[in-house]
Amino acid sequence: MKITDLKCAIIGDFPVVRILTDEGIEGLGQGEYPKPYLKPHVMFYKDLIIGEDPTDVERVMTRIRRVGAFKPWGTAVSAIEVALWDIAGKAAGLPVYKLLGGKVRDRVRVYNGAVRFPLKGHTPQHYAENMQRMKESKEGFTIIKQGIAFHGTMADSMPGLYYGDPPGGPRATQGGLFTEKGFKHTMACIEAMKEVLGDEIGLALDCGPGFTVIDAIRLAKAVEPMNIMWLEDMITGDYTPYVLAQLYRDVTNASSTPIHTGEQIYLRQNFKDLIETQAVRVIGPDPLDVGGIAELKWIAEYADLHGIQMAPHGTADGLIGLAALVHVSATLPRNYIAFEYPVGKPDWWYDIIDGLPDPIVKDGFIDVWDTPGLGVKFNVPAARKYLKDGDKDFFN
Ligand SMILES: [Mg+2]
Repeated sequence: MKITDLKCAIIGDFPVVRILTDEGIEGLGQGEYPKPYLKPHVMFYKDLIIGEDPTDVERVMTRIRRVGAFKPWGTAVSAIEVALWDIAGKAAGLPVYKLLGGKVRDRVRVYNGAVRFPLKGHTPQHYAENMQRMKESKEGFTIIKQGIAFHGTMADSMPGLYYGDPPGGPRATQGGLFTEKGFKHTMACIEAMKEVLGDEIGLALDCGPGFTVIDAIRLAKAVEPMNIMWLEDMITGDYTPYVLAQLYRDVTNASSTPIHTGEQIYLRQNFKDLIETQAVRVIGPDPLDVGGIAELKWIAEYADLHGIQMAPHGTADGLIGLAALVHVSATLPRNYIAFEYPVGKPDWWYDIIDGLPDPIVKDGFIDVWDTPGLGVKFNVPAARKYLKDGDKDFFN
């Protein structure tokens, strides 16, 4: 089999990848929705993979993997990798999880990082009300993640939270030392959310990046009695193009609270220091940023050897990304906790993708399906009307 074409369309705000072959089998991949600007980047790889056998996934990847980088620049390589597995699975007549080593579990736990209701303010009461709505959501999540401190809008809307001025701008780097008032406020919001969830549902907190090591240690110690699932990306993470594992190690060693990072990291080599020095207790690579699902599987196995847990990132991965997450998560060792459940955005995505279970999530889990490849496909007549000018030939 040979690859004959690589196409990319921006559907909604998601970059969607379609790889065509001379045997009429096609593969789908997807990148996170806030990355519509990546289309030219995806197309950069076209000439490098045309003529290759897509079922030799690793050989194709050796042709393109070197030309990638941390989030968002690992997305194109990752989306192509997922599409190759989709083709390989269809060619073999097997679900992708079989090609990754076979499933360890029949259903995969997911956590809530994307089913969201507007946060009406930043007082402890606002956080409690918002958490109550998420607790009642139909998916029945057993773990819910919320953004606090430098993650989300708290720092921007609370003057005096830290010794610094919010820099403004969606891509700006922020952070600094907390004021005592800011630290106490953050703690009060966490306590209010924990009060709502009790010990029935796990609370995870996305925190930064932007913490100093001083405050990261203070927070990790202060929340110890609350049994928080993890504190995510306090120091680096989320679009930070570096890791600083040693700083994380200082925080991890100072407290029993699990410390988490890794959503922005590209490739296994860049997890090496975090894993080998046991700098964090939980890692969260995103299959659509790290270099794909086989890359994520390798990292999970290596993390397991070092006593590190896995909670893959996925909030913006869309419905094709969801399928990729289900397949790889079914194969992960026992260090697997849950992946971050992505939603179709806008809602019409649920009308243009076929193959997902209905309902998708039951009691906080997704049943792993057995259709060949990723097991999802476009309802082409329904999807065609969302193609933008310049992408009209995507399904041809
Ligand atoms: Mg995060």
